Amino acid sequence: GAQATEIDTVVIGSGPGGYVAAIRAAELGQKVTIIESTFIGGVCLNIGCIPSKALINVGHHYQDAITDQPFGLKASNVRLDWAAAQTWKQKKVVDQLTGGVEMLLKKHKVDIVHGVASFNDNEQINVVEGDNHQLFQFKNCIIATGSRPVQIPAFEFSGRIVDSTGALSLPEIPKHLVVIGGGVIGFELGSAYLNLGSKVTVIEGLDHVLTGFDAEMIKPVLNDFKAKGGEIFTSAKAKSVLQTDEDVAVTFESDGKEQTVTGDYLLVSVGRRPNTDDIGLNNTNVKLNDHGLIEVDDTMRSNVPHIYAIGDITPGPALAHKASFQGKIAAAAISGDAKAHDLHYSLPAVAYTNYELATTGETPDSIKDKHLDAKAYKFPFAANGRALSINEAVGFIRLISDNKTKALIGAQIVGPGASDLISELSLAIENGLTTEDISLTIHPHPTLGEAIMDTAELADGLAIHI
Ligand code: FAD
Repeated sequence: GAQATEIDTVVIGSGPGGYVAAIRAAELGQKVTIIESTFIGGVCLNIGCIPSKALINVGHHYQDAITDQPFGLKASNVRLDWAAAQTWKQKKVVDQLTGGVEMLLKKHKVDIVHGVASFNDNEQINVVEGDNHQLFQFKNCIIATGSRPVQIPAFEFSGRIVDSTGALSLPEIPKHLVVIGGGVIGFELGSAYLNLGSKVTVIEGLDHVLTGFDAEMIKPVLNDFKAKGGEIFTSAKAKSVLQTDEDVAVTFESDGKEQTVTGDYLLVSVGRRPNTDDIGLNNTNVKLNDHGLIEVDDTMRSNVPHIYAIGDITPGPALAHKASFQGKIAAAAISGDAKAHDLHYSLPAVAYTNYELATTGETPDSIKDKHLDAKAYKFPFAANGRALSINEAVGFIRLISDNKTKALIGAQIVGPGASDLISELSLAIENGLTTEDISLTIHPHPTLGEAIMDTAELADGLAIHI
């Protein structure tokens, strides 16, 4: 048979898990080879986080432009060139970033191999690209193959029935977008098109949308969604779809009766499945759990000591920053300077809905479940000067601190800037800071971040602005 090339560390997949692991391992002295079957940058940069945020941004600008503003601004003849928006998203955002990642890999002397990798055994992978195949014998491996959308039988992706990838590149702005699945991905894309002028109907099987965020946080999001004409059916079971050249008619059961909603596009976003089923893991001793995920220890090691797994193929939330962080841990472990790390303690999660939702660490529900002696304190953006001056005085900041030590153990934000503001609170949690540490830190005025200081003062019993 063919001769196998001997390599040191191989990373399979170049998403936010894989490319970060590869660069860090190279920085720590490893000779690294990265294998990518599709696009450098993975789901996140090409068809996930980044292009979705780009379209969400276009939606915000469009919505602002078509809405008469309370400060007297009225625009007329507003027109959105959708083709231009798509080109901008691809050329100025996605391609810039993926090109940058490829450059960084090269700068760190990481060998990039294009092709589909699969394991022959615990030490060897086969990489196929077209008619070519190459064998690699490795010392260490980091699997970072990510995930793909779940397809459900009656709703196969074709034509006007799309997954999140299709929804990011629709040929036109839908007149009426039907979304099956009101999780973060479905709701973010639904909100983007709602802002872009589509009618949007969300059909969700659970009794609530946006799992992972509590009812109090979601309320302003739902209010905004409904105010713009968005429709949400919860505890609703999608049964079938009839597609014609012009439209899609989705039949679902809700409140015990069958209903049909007809739109021109259907987005099916009912979850993602790990890419662990087709990479030859059956030829190795790597164990998968019941969800097809690879269980890892706190240095991202699988049950086979020289094979590591990171990102969406490991248990826990499917988030890009989780993948990257795990990539750094695995790279450090392989290079012999592993630091055990409680990754999930303050892993932040964000939904880029209107308004943004962000959470880190404990929540009001989790402190109840764990019987923690802790309390939540809440401060509204309505009392924040900056929020008022940008006409976004909606939502609140919530800090959760330990009653005895006053250490911050959790935080949630709904409202303007939530996605950026949450990092200060993760930093505080990771470093055991107290609410007093936060309130004694000078926050510049006027900023949204001042509301964090105000919430901390409230927790200290020394509130000024409420
Ligand atoms: P991936 O990014 O999935 O990358 C895996 C890579 O491995 C892919 O490039 C794939 O081609 C390659 N690969 C797979 N199998 C093989 C093989 N056999 N051989 C070679 N290469 C292979 N997360 C956030 O944190 N914030 C967000 O705002 C956010 N928004 C999202 C929006 C959308 C629409 C979607 C779909 C996802 C979003 N996510 C977001 C989730 C985020 O994209 C994932 O958590 C993240 O990409 C996971 O990174 P990863 O490195 O594990 O895998």
